Amino acid sequence: MSAVPRRVLVLPGDGIGREIVPVAVEVMCAAADRAGIALSIDEGLVGGAAIDVAGSPLPAATLAAARRADAILLGAVGGPKWDSLPMRDRPERGLLGLRAGLGLFANLRPALSFAPLAGASSLKPALVADLDILIVRELTGGIYFGEPRGIDGNPGARRGVNTMVYTEAEIERIARVGFEAARRRAKRLCSVDKANVLEVTQLWREVVTTVSGDYPDVALSHMYVDNAGMQLVRAPKQFDVMVTTNMFGDILSDVAAMLTGSLGMLPSASLGADGCGMYEPVHGSAPDIAGKGIANPLATILSVAMLFRHSLDAPVPAASIERAVASALERGLRTPDLDGGAGTTRVGTREMADAVLAALAEDVQPEASA
Ligand code: NAD
Repeated sequence: MSAVPRRVLVLPGDGIGREIVPVAVEVMCAAADRAGIALSIDEGLVGGAAIDVAGSPLPAATLAAARRADAILLGAVGGPKWDSLPMRDRPERGLLGLRAGLGLFANLRPALSFAPLAGASSLKPALVADLDILIVRELTGGIYFGEPRGIDGNPGARRGVNTMVYTEAEIERIARVGFEAARRRAKRLCSVDKANVLEVTQLWREVVTTVSGDYPDVALSHMYVDNAGMQLVRAPKQFDVMVTTNMFGDILSDVAAMLTGSLGMLPSASLGADGCGMYEPVHGSAPDIAGKGIANPLATILSVAMLFRHSLDAPVPAASIERAVASALERGLRTPDLDGGAGTTRVGTREMADAVLAALAEDVQPEASA
Protein backbone atom coordinates (compact mmCIF):
# COMPACT_ATOMS: atom_id res chain seq x y z
CA MET A 1 0.00 0.00 0.00
CA SER A 2 1.10 3.59 -0.66
CA ALA A 3 2.13 5.34 2.58
CA VAL A 4 -0.10 8.43 2.42
CA PRO A 5 -3.72 7.67 1.55
CA ARG A 6 -5.07 9.61 -1.41
CA ARG A 7 -8.15 11.61 -0.49
CA VAL A 8 -11.25 11.15 -2.61
CA LEU A 9 -14.43 13.11 -1.94
CA VAL A 10 -17.55 11.29 -3.10
CA LEU A 11 -20.62 13.39 -3.96
CA PRO A 12 -23.51 11.16 -5.11
CA GLY A 13 -25.87 14.13 -5.60
CA ASP A 14 -29.40 13.37 -6.74
CA GLY A 15 -31.52 10.88 -8.68
CA ILE A 16 -29.55 7.99 -10.16
CA GLY A 17 -26.39 9.57 -8.70
CA ARG A 18 -27.35 7.79 -5.47
CA GLU A 19 -27.41 4.43 -7.27
CA ILE A 20 -24.46 4.64 -9.65
CA VAL A 21 -21.96 6.34 -7.36
CA PRO A 22 -22.01 3.69 -4.58
CA VAL A 23 -21.29 0.88 -7.07
CA ALA A 24 -18.59 2.99 -8.76
CA VAL A 25 -16.99 3.48 -5.33
CA GLU A 26 -16.94 -0.31 -4.90
CA VAL A 27 -15.07 -0.57 -8.21
CA MET A 28 -12.71 2.23 -7.13
CA CYS A 29 -11.88 0.47 -3.86
CA ALA A 30 -11.35 -2.88 -5.57
CA ALA A 31 -9.04 -1.36 -8.20
CA ALA A 32 -7.11 0.59 -5.56
CA ASP A 33 -6.66 -2.55 -3.44
CA ARG A 34 -5.29 -4.50 -6.39
CA ALA A 35 -2.87 -1.68 -7.23
CA GLY A 36 -1.74 -1.17 -3.61
CA ILE A 37 -3.08 2.37 -3.46
CA ALA A 38 -4.48 3.50 -0.10
CA LEU A 39 -7.58 5.66 -0.37
CA SER A 40 -9.24 7.84 2.22
CA ILE A 41 -12.85 8.32 1.12
CA ASP A 42 -15.13 11.07 2.40
CA GLU A 43 -18.74 11.58 1.38
CA GLY A 44 -20.48 14.95 1.03
CA LEU A 45 -23.69 16.63 -0.05
CA VAL A 46 -24.25 18.57 -3.26
CA GLY A 47 -27.24 19.61 -5.37
CA GLY A 48 -30.82 18.92 -4.31
CA ALA A 49 -29.75 16.54 -1.54
CA ALA A 50 -27.70 19.40 -0.05
CA ILE A 51 -30.59 21.86 -0.40
CA ASP A 52 -32.85 19.48 1.56
CA VAL A 53 -30.37 18.95 4.38
CA ALA A 54 -28.32 22.16 4.52
CA GLY A 55 -30.39 24.73 2.62
CA SER A 56 -27.72 25.28 -0.04
CA PRO A 57 -26.73 23.36 -3.21
CA LEU A 58 -23.08 23.73 -2.21
CA PRO A 59 -22.67 23.82 1.57
CA ALA A 60 -19.43 25.40 2.83
CA ALA A 61 -18.42 22.03 4.32
CA THR A 62 -18.64 20.39 0.88
CA LEU A 63 -16.49 23.06 -0.79
CA ALA A 64 -13.94 22.86 2.03
CA ALA A 65 -13.79 19.05 1.72
CA ALA A 66 -13.44 19.38 -2.07
CA ARG A 67 -10.47 21.73 -1.60
CA ARG A 68 -8.77 19.19 0.68
CA ALA A 69 -9.33 16.27 -1.70
CA ASP A 70 -6.98 14.89 -4.35
CA ALA A 71 -10.00 14.04 -6.47
CA ILE A 72 -13.78 14.30 -6.42
CA LEU A 73 -16.22 11.72 -7.78
CA LEU A 74 -19.61 13.24 -8.53
CA GLY A 75 -22.86 11.55 -9.59
CA ALA A 76 -25.36 14.07 -10.93
CA VAL A 77 -27.52 16.86 -9.57
CA GLY A 78 -31.05 18.08 -10.14
CA GLY A 79 -34.59 16.81 -10.34
CA PRO A 80 -38.22 17.95 -10.55
CA LYS A 81 -38.42 18.47 -6.79
CA TRP A 82 -36.15 21.54 -7.08
CA ASP A 83 -37.17 22.79 -10.56
CA SER A 84 -39.33 25.63 -9.22
CA LEU A 85 -36.52 27.23 -7.21
CA PRO A 86 -34.99 30.46 -8.54
CA MET A 87 -31.95 29.91 -10.78
CA ARG A 88 -29.43 30.96 -8.12
CA ASP A 89 -30.71 28.39 -5.59
CA ARG A 90 -31.06 25.40 -7.91
CA PRO A 91 -29.06 22.15 -7.57
CA GLU A 92 -27.01 22.95 -10.72
CA ARG A 93 -25.48 25.94 -8.88
CA GLY A 94 -23.69 23.37 -6.72
CA LEU A 95 -21.84 22.06 -9.75
CA LEU A 96 -20.96 25.51 -11.07
CA GLY A 97 -19.81 26.53 -7.59
CA LEU A 98 -17.48 23.53 -7.41
CA ARG A 99 -16.02 24.24 -10.86
CA ALA A 100 -15.44 27.91 -10.04
CA GLY A 101 -14.31 27.31 -6.45
CA LEU A 102 -11.71 24.76 -7.53
CA GLY A 103 -10.58 26.63 -10.67
CA LEU A 104 -11.33 23.65 -12.93
CA PHE A 105 -10.16 25.08 -16.26
CA ALA A 106 -9.66 21.92 -18.29
CA ASN A 107 -12.50 19.66 -19.34
CA LEU A 108 -11.52 16.20 -20.55
CA ARG A 109 -14.09 14.25 -22.51
CA PRO A 110 -13.06 10.90 -23.91
CA ALA A 111 -14.99 9.33 -26.74
CA LEU A 112 -14.32 5.68 -26.16
CA SER A 113 -16.19 3.15 -28.20
CA PHE A 114 -16.39 -0.41 -27.02
CA ALA A 115 -16.47 -2.91 -29.87
CA PRO A 116 -19.66 -4.69 -28.68
CA LEU A 117 -21.51 -1.33 -28.81
CA ALA A 118 -20.19 -0.21 -32.21
CA GLY A 119 -23.64 -0.83 -33.72
CA ALA A 120 -25.16 1.88 -31.47
CA SER A 121 -23.24 4.68 -33.21
CA SER A 122 -24.71 6.79 -35.99
CA LEU A 123 -21.53 6.02 -37.99
CA LYS A 124 -20.66 2.73 -39.64
CA PRO A 125 -19.35 0.24 -37.03
CA ALA A 126 -15.97 -0.05 -38.79
CA LEU A 127 -15.38 3.70 -38.39
CA VAL A 128 -15.98 3.68 -34.63
CA ALA A 129 -15.05 0.19 -33.36
CA ASP A 130 -12.35 0.67 -30.69
CA LEU A 131 -12.41 4.44 -31.16
CA ASP A 132 -10.44 6.18 -28.39
CA ILE A 133 -10.26 9.98 -28.63
CA LEU A 134 -9.75 12.48 -25.86
CA ILE A 135 -10.98 16.04 -26.25
CA VAL A 136 -9.39 18.62 -23.96
CA ARG A 137 -11.58 21.71 -23.81
CA GLU A 138 -10.61 25.01 -22.17
CA LEU A 139 -13.42 25.59 -19.65
CA THR A 140 -13.11 28.95 -17.93
CA GLY A 141 -12.14 31.42 -20.69
CA GLY A 142 -12.79 32.31 -24.32
CA ILE A 143 -15.97 33.64 -25.82
CA TYR A 144 -18.26 32.34 -23.05
CA PHE A 145 -16.62 34.68 -20.54
CA GLY A 146 -14.97 37.46 -22.62
CA GLU A 147 -15.88 41.15 -22.19
CA PRO A 148 -17.43 43.23 -23.65
CA ARG A 149 -20.58 41.23 -24.08
CA GLY A 150 -24.27 42.01 -24.33
CA ILE A 151 -26.96 43.50 -26.56
CA ASP A 152 -27.21 47.27 -26.98
CA GLY A 153 -28.88 49.84 -29.23
CA ASN A 154 -32.49 50.69 -30.05
CA PRO A 155 -35.05 48.20 -31.37
CA GLY A 156 -34.43 47.59 -35.06
CA ALA A 157 -30.80 48.69 -34.76
CA ARG A 158 -29.64 46.52 -31.86
CA ARG A 159 -26.19 44.96 -31.73
CA GLY A 160 -25.16 41.73 -30.04
CA VAL A 161 -21.55 41.35 -28.92
CA ASN A 162 -19.41 38.61 -27.49
CA THR A 163 -15.65 38.65 -27.21
CA MET A 164 -13.31 35.75 -27.74
CA VAL A 165 -10.27 36.46 -25.63
CA TYR A 166 -7.37 34.33 -24.44
CA THR A 167 -4.18 35.32 -22.68
CA GLU A 168 -0.91 33.54 -23.37
CA ALA A 169 -1.03 32.12 -19.83
CA GLU A 170 -4.51 30.63 -20.36
CA ILE A 171 -3.45 29.06 -23.65
CA GLU A 172 -0.23 27.70 -22.21
CA ARG A 173 -1.89 25.96 -19.24
CA ILE A 174 -4.54 24.21 -21.34
CA ALA A 175 -1.92 23.28 -23.96
CA ARG A 176 0.13 21.62 -21.22
CA VAL A 177 -2.90 19.57 -20.11
CA GLY A 178 -3.25 18.43 -23.74
CA PHE A 179 0.43 17.53 -24.10
CA GLU A 180 0.52 15.71 -20.74
CA ALA A 181 -2.59 13.71 -21.69
CA ALA A 182 -1.13 12.85 -25.12
CA ARG A 183 2.11 11.79 -23.45
CA ARG A 184 0.14 9.19 -21.45
CA ARG A 185 -1.58 7.91 -24.59
CA ALA A 186 -0.58 7.56 -28.26
CA LYS A 187 1.52 10.77 -28.11
CA ARG A 188 -0.36 12.71 -30.78
CA LEU A 189 -1.93 16.09 -30.08
CA CYS A 190 -4.11 17.98 -32.56
CA SER A 191 -4.70 21.63 -31.65
CA VAL A 192 -7.95 22.95 -33.12
CA ASP A 193 -8.30 26.65 -33.96
CA LYS A 194 -9.53 29.07 -36.61
CA ALA A 195 -6.19 30.78 -37.12
CA ASN A 196 -7.03 31.68 -40.73
CA VAL A 197 -9.73 34.09 -39.51
CA LEU A 198 -9.46 34.81 -35.78
CA GLU A 199 -6.42 36.62 -34.36
CA VAL A 200 -7.12 35.20 -30.91
CA THR A 201 -6.56 31.73 -32.32
CA GLN A 202 -3.46 32.85 -34.23
CA LEU A 203 -2.09 33.55 -30.76
CA TRP A 204 -3.48 30.17 -29.64
CA ARG A 205 -1.54 28.42 -32.44
CA GLU A 206 1.69 30.32 -31.68
CA VAL A 207 1.58 29.55 -27.96
CA VAL A 208 0.69 25.86 -28.46
CA THR A 209 3.60 25.57 -30.91
CA THR A 210 5.98 27.18 -28.40
CA VAL A 211 4.81 24.86 -25.59
CA SER A 212 5.39 21.86 -27.88
CA GLY A 213 9.14 22.51 -27.47
CA ASP A 214 8.79 21.02 -23.97
CA TYR A 215 7.15 17.87 -25.33
CA PRO A 216 9.43 16.55 -28.08
CA ASP A 217 7.92 13.07 -27.62
CA VAL A 218 4.43 14.29 -28.61
CA ALA A 219 3.64 14.88 -32.30
CA LEU A 220 1.74 18.16 -32.62
CA SER A 221 -0.57 19.00 -35.52
CA HIS A 222 -2.96 21.94 -36.09
CA MET A 223 -6.40 21.84 -37.67
CA TYR A 224 -9.06 24.46 -38.40
CA VAL A 225 -12.25 23.82 -36.47
CA ASP A 226 -14.45 23.42 -39.56
CA ASN A 227 -12.15 20.72 -40.89
CA ALA A 228 -11.96 19.09 -37.42
CA GLY A 229 -15.76 18.79 -37.35
CA MET A 230 -15.70 17.17 -40.76
CA GLN A 231 -12.83 14.81 -39.91
CA LEU A 232 -14.54 13.69 -36.69
CA VAL A 233 -17.43 12.25 -38.64
CA ARG A 234 -15.35 11.14 -41.66
CA ALA A 235 -12.46 9.30 -40.02
CA PRO A 236 -12.52 9.79 -36.23
CA LYS A 237 -9.84 7.21 -35.49
CA GLN A 238 -7.14 9.53 -36.95
CA PHE A 239 -7.24 11.50 -33.65
CA ASP A 240 -5.61 10.74 -30.32
CA VAL A 241 -5.91 13.92 -28.19
CA MET A 242 -7.49 17.16 -29.40
CA VAL A 243 -7.02 20.44 -27.51
CA THR A 244 -9.19 23.45 -28.21
CA THR A 245 -10.99 26.55 -27.00
CA ASN A 246 -14.07 26.65 -24.81
CA MET A 247 -16.64 27.08 -27.60
CA PHE A 248 -14.97 24.85 -30.20
CA GLY A 249 -14.54 22.17 -27.50
CA ASP A 250 -18.16 22.46 -26.44
CA ILE A 251 -19.29 21.64 -29.95
CA LEU A 252 -16.64 19.08 -30.93
CA SER A 253 -16.90 17.12 -27.67
CA ASP A 254 -20.63 16.58 -28.20
CA VAL A 255 -20.00 15.44 -31.77
CA ALA A 256 -17.28 13.06 -30.62
CA ALA A 257 -19.34 11.78 -27.69
CA MET A 258 -22.21 10.78 -29.92
CA LEU A 259 -19.88 8.74 -32.14
CA THR A 260 -19.88 6.22 -29.32
CA GLY A 261 -23.64 5.83 -29.17
CA SER A 262 -24.84 6.05 -25.58
CA LEU A 263 -25.14 8.72 -22.91
CA GLY A 264 -24.84 6.09 -20.19
CA MET A 265 -21.27 5.31 -21.29
CA LEU A 266 -19.64 8.77 -21.28
CA PRO A 267 -17.25 9.82 -18.50
CA SER A 268 -15.65 13.24 -18.02
CA ALA A 269 -13.04 15.03 -15.95
CA SER A 270 -12.56 18.67 -15.05
CA LEU A 271 -9.06 19.50 -13.92
CA GLY A 272 -7.58 22.43 -12.00
CA ALA A 273 -4.09 23.85 -11.71
CA ASP A 274 -2.91 21.76 -8.76
CA GLY A 275 -3.75 18.35 -10.19
CA CYS A 276 -7.08 18.18 -8.35
CA GLY A 277 -9.89 17.01 -10.55
CA MET A 278 -13.61 16.39 -10.52
CA TYR A 279 -14.85 13.26 -12.29
CA GLU A 280 -18.44 12.71 -13.33
CA PRO A 281 -20.60 11.02 -15.93
CA VAL A 282 -21.73 13.32 -18.76
CA HIS A 283 -25.39 12.44 -18.17
CA GLY A 284 -27.72 13.97 -15.58
CA SER A 285 -29.71 12.59 -12.64
CA ALA A 286 -32.27 10.80 -14.89
CA PRO A 287 -35.29 11.31 -12.60
CA ASP A 288 -37.41 9.18 -14.98
CA ILE A 289 -35.55 6.03 -13.97
CA ALA A 290 -34.25 6.99 -10.49
CA GLY A 291 -34.97 4.41 -7.82
CA LYS A 292 -35.64 1.61 -10.29
CA GLY A 293 -32.17 0.03 -10.11
CA ILE A 294 -31.74 0.09 -13.88
CA ALA A 295 -29.36 3.06 -14.40
CA ASN A 296 -26.23 2.30 -16.36
CA PRO A 297 -23.29 2.71 -13.94
CA LEU A 298 -20.59 2.46 -16.63
CA ALA A 299 -20.12 6.20 -17.30
CA THR A 300 -19.44 6.70 -13.60
CA ILE A 301 -17.19 3.64 -13.42
CA LEU A 302 -15.24 4.95 -16.44
CA SER A 303 -15.02 8.32 -14.64
CA VAL A 304 -13.30 6.44 -11.80
CA ALA A 305 -10.77 5.15 -14.36
CA MET A 306 -10.10 8.78 -15.36
CA LEU A 307 -9.74 9.71 -11.69
CA PHE A 308 -6.97 7.11 -11.25
CA ARG A 309 -5.22 8.22 -14.43
CA HIS A 310 -5.38 11.99 -14.07
CA SER A 311 -5.49 12.79 -10.35
CA LEU A 312 -3.82 9.76 -8.75
CA ASP A 313 -1.22 9.26 -11.51
CA ALA A 314 -2.18 5.58 -11.55
CA PRO A 315 -2.62 4.38 -15.14
CA VAL A 316 -2.52 0.69 -14.24
CA PRO A 317 -5.80 0.52 -12.24
CA ALA A 318 -7.32 2.93 -14.78
CA ALA A 319 -6.62 0.50 -17.61
CA SER A 320 -7.81 -2.46 -15.50
CA ILE A 321 -11.18 -0.76 -14.95
CA GLU A 322 -11.53 -0.01 -18.67
CA ARG A 323 -10.76 -3.64 -19.54
CA ALA A 324 -13.27 -4.82 -16.91
CA VAL A 325 -15.98 -2.64 -18.46
CA ALA A 326 -15.15 -4.01 -21.91
CA SER A 327 -15.32 -7.54 -20.53
CA ALA A 328 -18.79 -7.00 -19.00
CA LEU A 329 -20.02 -5.71 -22.37
CA GLU A 330 -18.35 -8.58 -24.25
CA ARG A 331 -20.24 -11.01 -22.02
CA GLY A 332 -23.40 -9.48 -23.48
CA LEU A 333 -24.62 -7.64 -20.37
CA ARG A 334 -26.70 -4.56 -21.21
CA THR A 335 -28.59 -2.09 -19.04
CA PRO A 336 -31.87 -1.02 -20.72
CA ASP A 337 -30.34 2.18 -22.19
CA LEU A 338 -27.88 0.12 -24.28
CA ASP A 339 -28.76 -1.60 -27.52
CA GLY A 340 -29.83 -5.13 -26.79
CA GLY A 341 -30.08 -7.66 -29.57
CA ALA A 342 -29.19 -11.29 -30.01
CA GLY A 343 -26.89 -12.80 -27.41
CA THR A 344 -27.34 -9.99 -24.88
CA THR A 345 -28.79 -10.12 -21.37
CA ARG A 346 -30.73 -7.24 -19.87
CA VAL A 347 -29.40 -6.38 -16.40
CA GLY A 348 -29.75 -3.67 -13.77
CA THR A 349 -27.22 -1.40 -12.06
CA ARG A 350 -26.18 -3.98 -9.45
CA GLU A 351 -25.63 -6.85 -11.91
CA MET A 352 -23.64 -4.64 -14.29
CA ALA A 353 -21.43 -3.44 -11.43
CA ASP A 354 -20.99 -7.02 -10.19
CA ALA A 355 -19.88 -8.08 -13.67
CA VAL A 356 -17.29 -5.27 -13.71
CA LEU A 357 -16.09 -6.24 -10.22
CA ALA A 358 -15.79 -9.89 -11.26
CA ALA A 359 -13.87 -8.97 -14.41
CA LEU A 360 -11.61 -6.71 -12.37
CA ALA A 361 -10.82 -9.55 -9.96
CA GLU A 362 -9.79 -11.74 -12.91
CA ASP A 363 -8.02 -8.97 -14.85
CA VAL A 364 -4.55 -9.76 -16.09
CA GLN A 365 -2.45 -6.84 -17.15
CA PRO A 366 -1.16 -7.14 -20.71
CA GLU A 367 2.66 -7.24 -21.04
CA ALA A 368 2.79 -4.02 -23.07
CA SER A 369 1.22 -1.82 -20.40
CA ALA A 370 2.93 -3.53 -17.44
P1 NAD B 1 -30.42 13.12 -18.17
O1 NAD B 1 -29.03 12.92 -18.67
O2 NAD B 1 -30.60 13.01 -16.70
O3 NAD B 1 -31.41 12.07 -18.86
C1 NAD B 1 -31.66 12.03 -20.27
C2 NAD B 1 -32.18 10.64 -20.65
O4 NAD B 1 -31.11 9.70 -20.58
C3 NAD B 1 -33.25 10.12 -19.69
O5 NAD B 1 -34.20 9.38 -20.42
C4 NAD B 1 -32.51 9.20 -18.76
O6 NAD B 1 -33.28 8.15 -18.22
C5 NAD B 1 -31.40 8.68 -19.65
N1 NAD B 1 -30.17 8.40 -18.89
C6 NAD B 1 -29.28 9.31 -18.43
N2 NAD B 1 -28.30 8.70 -17.76
C7 NAD B 1 -28.56 7.38 -17.81
C8 NAD B 1 -27.91 6.24 -17.28
N3 NAD B 1 -26.77 6.30 -16.56
N4 NAD B 1 -28.47 5.02 -17.50
C9 NAD B 1 -29.61 4.92 -18.21
N5 NAD B 1 -30.26 5.97 -18.74
C10 NAD B 1 -29.75 7.19 -18.53
O7 NAD B 1 -30.90 14.56 -18.67
P2 NAD B 1 -32.26 15.36 -18.38
O8 NAD B 1 -33.39 14.41 -18.30
O9 NAD B 1 -32.26 16.45 -19.33
O10 NAD B 1 -32.03 16.00 -16.92
C11 NAD B 1 -32.50 15.42 -15.73
C12 NAD B 1 -31.95 16.23 -14.54
O11 NAD B 1 -30.52 16.11 -14.53
C13 NAD B 1 -32.25 17.72 -14.63
O12 NAD B 1 -32.55 18.19 -13.33
C14 NAD B 1 -30.96 18.33 -15.15
O13 NAD B 1 -30.79 19.66 -14.74
C15 NAD B 1 -29.94 17.42 -14.49
N6 NAD B 1 -28.64 17.35 -15.20
C16 NAD B 1 -27.56 17.29 -14.40
C17 NAD B 1 -26.31 17.15 -14.97
C18 NAD B 1 -25.12 17.02 -14.06
O14 NAD B 1 -25.31 16.82 -12.88
N7 NAD B 1 -23.91 17.09 -14.57
C19 NAD B 1 -26.16 17.07 -16.36
C20 NAD B 1 -27.31 17.10 -17.17
C21 NAD B 1 -28.57 17.24 -16.56
